[in-house]
Amino acid sequence: MIQRTPTRIEAHPAEDRRTWQQLLSNSITSPADLLERLELAPETWLEGAKTGHRLFAVRVPEPFLARMRKGDPYDPLLRQVLPLTDETEPADGFVQDPLAENGAIQTTGLIRKYRSRALLMVTGQCAINCRYCFRRHFPYEDQRLSPSDRQKVIETLGDSPEINEVIFSGGDPLVASDRLLADWADAITGLPHIRRLRLHTRLPVVIPQRVCDALIDWISQTSVRVVMVLHINHPAEIDASVREALARLSEVGVTLLNQSVILRGINDSADTLESLSESLFDAGVLPYYLHAFDPVRGAHHFDVEDQRAQGLIQQLLTRLPGFLVPRLVREIPGEESKTPLNINL
Ligand SMILES: *Cc1c(COP(=O)(O)O)cnc(C)c1O
Ligand code: SF4
Repeated sequence: MIQRTPTRIEAHPAEDRRTWQQLLSNSITSPADLLERLELAPETWLEGAKTGHRLFAVRVPEPFLARMRKGDPYDPLLRQVLPLTDETEPADGFVQDPLAENGAIQTTGLIRKYRSRALLMVTGQCAINCRYCFRRHFPYEDQRLSPSDRQKVIETLGDSPEINEVIFSGGDPLVASDRLLADWADAITGLPHIRRLRLHTRLPVVIPQRVCDALIDWISQTSVRVVMVLHINHPAEIDASVREALARLSEVGVTLLNQSVILRGINDSADTLESLSESLFDAGVLPYYLHAFDPVRGAHHFDVEDQRAQGLIQQLLTRLPGFLVPRLVREIPGEESKTPLNINL
């Protein structure tokens, strides 16, 4: 892993008054732009980037880009978003829908795999396209919700008293407007058996401005506890603007957790994972899951063997308090929960 030097692109400092919607629509969406902004040689990187881009489009918001080092093709944030020729190489066992989500759709927009929790796909869009994403081939268009679909989701939840927690997911649920989210939150928390609302999102990390007054307003007015599970893979993703956004969420009582994916060349070292846990805690976030790699087609170059991942967790256990060691898990289709990968001490 290359040492971090303090030569980042000038971050758009506090005087950047653009709204999150503007930042979302001004994201970098072309491979050539991405390389140019980071001063990377097109002769070396453009062809691969264009090839990968045709499979899964480039999308990088500027606040996230600002945390990358210029001129470093191995920057751990860049690696998460830079398409490579590797993505076109076939690999045994790497498939389109590794988690068999297509089979778990209960009604349009609602995925149910576990007894007490249901996952609501609020929107198919994301603010950033992560190359390793296990949903990179997901047919999101099929999941667009009409008013009658929404009615059906609420009825299904109403008829399922064993569900006590609804997870807003996607895509990234915070790409949706606060009005839409507040409507969902109202309808869902109106059901007597719902005890918690959870949000799975990367937006407060990649566009911290997303934690705006309107978001804080509906969250503070929600009648049940709100849990936010962020997705941060590397400590360099957390800067002052992210810490500030997370502090606003903590202030209104949101429980902040983080899930990461173990990714070769990005965070597959004990030092990086230790520093990630420490930085998360400094930002008021507890590590929750470290996901073993899901074999999605086009992302085999990120794969870390389970045994190595287990070894890394073993090292973390000796370096960190127990509450800063994430649980290493894998999602196995058909299982009734995520499956912990046990560590043999
Ligand atoms: C991961 C996941 C959940 C949440 O699982 P937890 O172990 O409660 O974090 C819920 N529903 C689906 C479909 C999931 O994939
Ligand atoms: S934000 Fe999450 S769902 Fe969206 S591309 Fe990244 S990993 Fe996938």
